[in-house]
Amino acid sequence: MVVAERKPFDEIWAMLEGYERVLVVGCGTCVTICWAGGEKEVGLLAAQLRLTASREGRKLDVREAVVERQCEREMVEELRDAVEEVDAILSMGCGAGVQMVAEVFEEKPVFPALNTTFIGAPEREGVWVERCAACGDCMLYWTGGICPVIRCAKGLLNGPCGGTRRGGKCEIDPEKDCAWVLIYQRLKKQGRLDLMERYYEPKNYRAVKRPGRIVAMR
Ligand code: SF4
Ligand code: SF4
Repeated sequence: MVVAERKPFDEIWAMLEGYERVLVVGCGTCVTICWAGGEKEVGLLAAQLRLTASREGRKLDVREAVVERQCEREMVEELRDAVEEVDAILSMGCGAGVQMVAEVFEEKPVFPALNTTFIGAPEREGVWVERCAACGDCMLYWTGGICPVIRCAKGLLNGPCGGTRRGGKCEIDPEKDCAWVLIYQRLKKQGRLDLMERYYEPKNYRAVKRPGRIVAMR
């Protein structure tokens, strides 16, 4: 999933200066799961905007909507009637969602209410962790399903670095597990420790040309 977090309110407020009717649009998928841009967060931000406007004596009509996935054109199209009635859109989707909304409604300014941070997964309630850098050349089959590119602080493909702390913690951040200790433990469980002796060639970081594009073959 894509993980994001809300921008500071002052930044959002400054973006909306000069606009009187704003549609706050949430997304029902990744950003709902990471508590950044779902129905609840749309309601909270809209309420905060109304409250601030009333405190400052500013005229601001704030509307709310949530689509299932902001990164899908058909779903964003559902907003057309609501968009016609406002002069700006505040997207609570990830960067892909914001850009899709901007593409569908080119005539309206679209502002991002979130900072998109990484591809990750929930670790426990209220905590999300980065798990993939979308390098385009996945090596998880050699590393027991643990990504050294993103989980090793140095991105080492041939680890560990030699600085691993007692207890298997990373030398850069003692709060985090050393990725290569985790890889070792996982491979040991699988009886595949021979892979620890394997040399990994430098990765082909050009496997995905930016901006990435995939065309399905049918
Ligand atoms: S090796 Fe690349 S594609 Fe695979 S999990 Fe790591 S960053 Fe993502
Ligand atoms: S201690 Fe482990 S996770 Fe930290 S930089 Fe060294 S190899 Fe990478």
